Amino acid sequence: MAPDDVEELRAIVGQLRTNLEARGRSGLVGVVTTKSAPKAAAPVAAAAVVEHEHEHEHVNEHEDGGGKAKTGKAGLKVVRDELGDCKRCKLAPSRTNLVFGVGNPDADLVFVGEAPGADEDAQGEPFVGKAGQLLTKMIEAMGYTRADVYICNVLKCRPPGNRNPEPDEVASCEPFLKKQLAAIRPRMIVALGKFAAQCLLRDDTPITRLRGGFRSYEGIPLMPTLHPAYLLRDPSKKKLAWEDLKAVNAALARVGIHPPRPPAG
Ligand code: URA
Repeated sequence: MAPDDVEELRAIVGQLRTNLEARGRSGLVGVVTTKSAPKAAAPVAAAAVVEHEHEHEHVNEHEDGGGKAKTGKAGLKVVRDELGDCKRCKLAPSRTNLVFGVGNPDADLVFVGEAPGADEDAQGEPFVGKAGQLLTKMIEAMGYTRADVYICNVLKCRPPGNRNPEPDEVASCEPFLKKQLAAIRPRMIVALGKFAAQCLLRDDTPITRLRGGFRSYEGIPLMPTLHPAYLLRDPSKKKLAWEDLKAVNAALARVGIHPPRPPAG
């Protein structure tokens, strides 16, 4: 077996173990299983926020079935190093910067978008253009700053002309998102828009139906919500996204996680 395959297998075993442990501790209900769950309707109770303690804040590593896998800042560095000067897909030649992710490596809350746009490609940081400025406001309305949470995308490189990500690009890049999430081990994921939600959940239900209901990604509660770029095009939908984010805050509050500042009313 190639060293890359061994590494991949290790990561999968580690994620499985983390998932099973988290589910055991939280009594998580309604988790989608590929065989029995109906495609569209597999909500997770809001109370089912993973109950694990943040051991990684202190230990920065956990058992992954084949040794110790690093978590937090050290874990993200391992992922970033593995990604390197990535040329795994056809997006590499046209990128200015690879956009890995930004924020707190031990964040309770992670936001996942689709792919970098022109501004992100130029600056090497996710969500810094117009949609990013709205996302920043949304995060601040929840009582957090960008530095408190972690922000990343499914794709690390900009698709030309901001076209939709293609399957081969996702196949190359998504393993690194999975490894990022395994390193951070957040208590909650917010999937921004159709692409991130459908990709993480393996569910092609329209985002208008997915949004607002808790789901599970590898044992971690996930809230699909509307993408900030969509909200810029249709500001009347902002209140729906705000409802989703308030539900996220409420679910986190039930397990004792509160934003550093009071959220907006
Ligand atoms: N849209 C995304 O999905 N991600 C970004 O980083 C910027 C815009």
